[in-house]
Amino acid sequence: MDFGVSERMKVILEMVREFMDKEVYPLEPYFVVKPFREMWPEIDRCRQMVKKMELWAPQVPAELGGMGLNVVEHALMAEELGRSPLGYLVFGCQAPDAGNIEILAKYATPEQRREYLLPLVRGEIRSCFSMSEPEFAGSNPTELATTAVLVNGQWVVNGHKWFSSSADGARFAVVMAVTDPEASVYQRASMIIVPTDTPGFNLVRNISILGHAGDDYASHGEILYQDCRVPADNLLGPRGQGFVIAQERLGPGRIHHCMRWIGICNRCFEMMCRRAGERKVGRGKTLADKQIIQEWVAESRAEILAARLMVLFAAWKMETEGLYAAREEVSLIKFYVAPVMLRVIDRAIQVHGGLGVTDDTILSFFYRMERGARIYDGPDEVHKVVAARRILREFSSAG
Ligand SMILES: Cc1cc2nc3c(=O)[nH]c(=O)nc-3n(C[C@H](O)[C@H](O)[C@H](O)COP(=O)(O)OP(=O)(O)OC[C@H]3O[C@@H](n4cnc5c(N)ncnc54)[C@H](O)[C@@H]3O)c2cc1C
Repeated sequence: MDFGVSERMKVILEMVREFMDKEVYPLEPYFVVKPFREMWPEIDRCRQMVKKMELWAPQVPAELGGMGLNVVEHALMAEELGRSPLGYLVFGCQAPDAGNIEILAKYATPEQRREYLLPLVRGEIRSCFSMSEPEFAGSNPTELATTAVLVNGQWVVNGHKWFSSSADGARFAVVMAVTDPEASVYQRASMIIVPTDTPGFNLVRNISILGHAGDDYASHGEILYQDCRVPADNLLGPRGQGFVIAQERLGPGRIHHCMRWIGICNRCFEMMCRRAGERKVGRGKTLADKQIIQEWVAESRAEILAARLMVLFAAWKMETEGLYAAREEVSLIKFYVAPVMLRVIDRAIQVHGGLGVTDDTILSFFYRMERGARIYDGPDEVHKVVAARRILREFSSAG
């Protein structure tokens, strides 16, 4: 088995590391305390530099304006970018846009491509994905209540959504709505593109999460669609295929999150080890001399390594055999990696003591912002059930 990295990727990763050190990490102390909009000019300055360095949109095919990295190469780069909450955004591979780019690249009409896909890839506009609804279990998106009805050549969208991440300031939403209520559960819904300046698109609020409502890109919107009318041509992909498209979108999205989480693990782990070695606790000893801390270090290292290899394997399988073949691995990493990351963040905070819960380091930001990792894109429990059912099926057919 070859764990080597190509010469080209070595150069790319070195450039990324250098840029992160010089331009991205220095923005973090401001990012964690300032409104996002105030940070935007600095972030955008970095994005323009990244474009000049030709490191923009690593996961997007070159013909659309990205770097065209394969899934494993993207995983390696994502690991570096995930070390900072700004990494993905500065390099143009942030959720929810990356997922929307994925489905637009596959399904957009020439007009949708020109109007939405290409400006989105170039980072000129932002988007959101509007599937989850407060009144229904998001874990089972076949239960949606939002409707889109064709009236005189227009879709009329009505419904209540929440957790439409980054809706504030987005140019458009990809809305999952029931278009065919009489069809079977998996064919009732479709994807519709709704520009956010359409009358009837009402951003009710940015939902406060663990004490922070956020703003602009760094927010999660609650939206009321009230007789929101868009042209019939705003249907994205085939009618009735919303569920399939959602799965196609979430598969790569999950792996992108897991890759980013490995970066967070590495960053927090390094901070924990450094602090343990520096912090004196009397009689010439440091925290690193204490066995209980040594146990956290060893356990964290083992868990991160296991998680990393699982993510790289899932990436390799997705690259070589496709999303469908890799769906078990994607479920496994989704519920395995998130708790590893949360444990590592927690241990790093504990080693930092009081400092760990201040905003003087990035640890408290990760702690706050990443708790959702065990919930979004399918809660842990759902992925466990899905993976277990698939595994058990193999045994029952063998028996
Ligand atoms: C930070 C964040 C960002 C998000 N961004 C978006 C976005 O951009 N767009 C969007 O549309 N949505 C988004 N979501 C919503 C997310 O997809 C849903 O929260 C998720 O699907 C879970 O749905 P729910 O919250 O309704 O929980 P429920 O479905 O009510 O589930 C609650 C809990 O029940 C358990 N559970 C559920 N089903 C099962 C089962 N079958 N077996 C065992 N246990 C089960 C799980 O523990 C789960 O956490 C985001 C959520 C978060 C937290």
